[in-house]
Amino acid sequence: MRIVVTGGAGFIGSHICDFLLHRNDSVVCIDDLSTGNLANISDLLSNRWFRFVRADVSAGLEVHGRVDAVAHFASPASPPDYLRRPLETLAVGSRGTENALRLADRSGARFVLASTSEVYGDPVEHPQREGYWGNVNPVGPRSVYDEAKRYAEAVTMAYHRHRGVNTGILRIFNTYGPRMRPEDGRVVSSFITQALNGQALTIYGDGTQTRSFCYVDDLVRGVVSMIDSDEVGPINLGCPDERTVAELAELVLKLTGSHSVVQYYPLPTDDPTRRRPDITLATARLGWCPEVSTEEGLQRTSAWFRCQDTRAAAAALVGGQLDGQSPPRLSEISWSDPVVGPQGQQRSRPAADVGDPTIQDDCGAHRPALQGEFTTTAVTTSGSTCLAD
Ligand code: UDP
Repeated sequence: MRIVVTGGAGFIGSHICDFLLHRNDSVVCIDDLSTGNLANISDLLSNRWFRFVRADVSAGLEVHGRVDAVAHFASPASPPDYLRRPLETLAVGSRGTENALRLADRSGARFVLASTSEVYGDPVEHPQREGYWGNVNPVGPRSVYDEAKRYAEAVTMAYHRHRGVNTGILRIFNTYGPRMRPEDGRVVSSFITQALNGQALTIYGDGTQTRSFCYVDDLVRGVVSMIDSDEVGPINLGCPDERTVAELAELVLKLTGSHSVVQYYPLPTDDPTRRRPDITLATARLGWCPEVSTEEGLQRTSAWFRCQDTRAAAAALVGGQLDGQSPPRLSEISWSDPVVGPQGQQRSRPAADVGDPTIQDDCGAHRPALQGEFTTTAVTTSGSTCLAD
């Protein structure tokens, strides 16, 4: 298949591109790099089945040649990002979605919308089923994202009903994993970045609000199943393992071995109190369920973050990023008790002479193997067991 992925250089989008290329699809990745990152797709640029186009899908979307599916993932997605870019967020949810739908319509392609659990707002039903219409403040600060995605769902259904486009809507719950931007202000990336740099973990509110965190590899399997299906949705994709933010902070401290303290800050406006997906529909219609436990996913994510230079991000996260305001600038950042790994290393240092056995370290760098040292790091997986709903 030839698949267009908008937002393909972003955190989730780039993992989708990887997955599709691995199974021999051809991918056209469109991204304006406003919150995406070229480094996420740098390994793909030399692949002849991969094409990257730097463009803002809100301005228009023209792709020549055959298109079999359009996966529309372009949008700022972390609260600080969309609060700092309110107009761009509304534009990509509305005009960007329309442009992506028009491309699918013209091409006779399958269209999959990345919608969000934010369409449920601060839900009064728990866990959230797809039939729940939500509790959204239409004029609050988060409305730029929530209402943009609600409009995106509405226009997707209109193209389905009135133009006969083969559309599918996914409601994606909190997702985490490698390639999150350390400074993007989401809770998992922030806590790991802070823990690794010996900075206080910034808990908003009293930490009793809950989220359910899905590891990115699990999510991407669900997204691709949706692309391959004719399901209209909406279908929730997320992990039903619900944790309080305070529990998450404790877990991150434990898994990273950090001695950071936690500090409390005011809860952002309209911050949802409880969130957990009901994934019955995803399991029934897509045969999908998450398999990676929160502990294991956080281990993998922390291992990746240890290989990134997160010092500047940790400094920017001091004091939190409430309601999209710039964080307070501290002239002196104290770097107490860092438990960082080999930060600042290039991820792909040149390997030793070809022919010499090399060992890949935890950050993907190669060094010559010592005599008798030919082991490779085993990838631990939790097998194919569904996490309990
Ligand atoms: N949060 C926090 N500290 C942070 C970042 C976020 O306590 O440094 C909280 C936030 O208030 C929310 C939860 O963690 O209750 C999840 O926030 P995130 O920004 O990751 O995503 P959301 O689910 O709100 O879109």
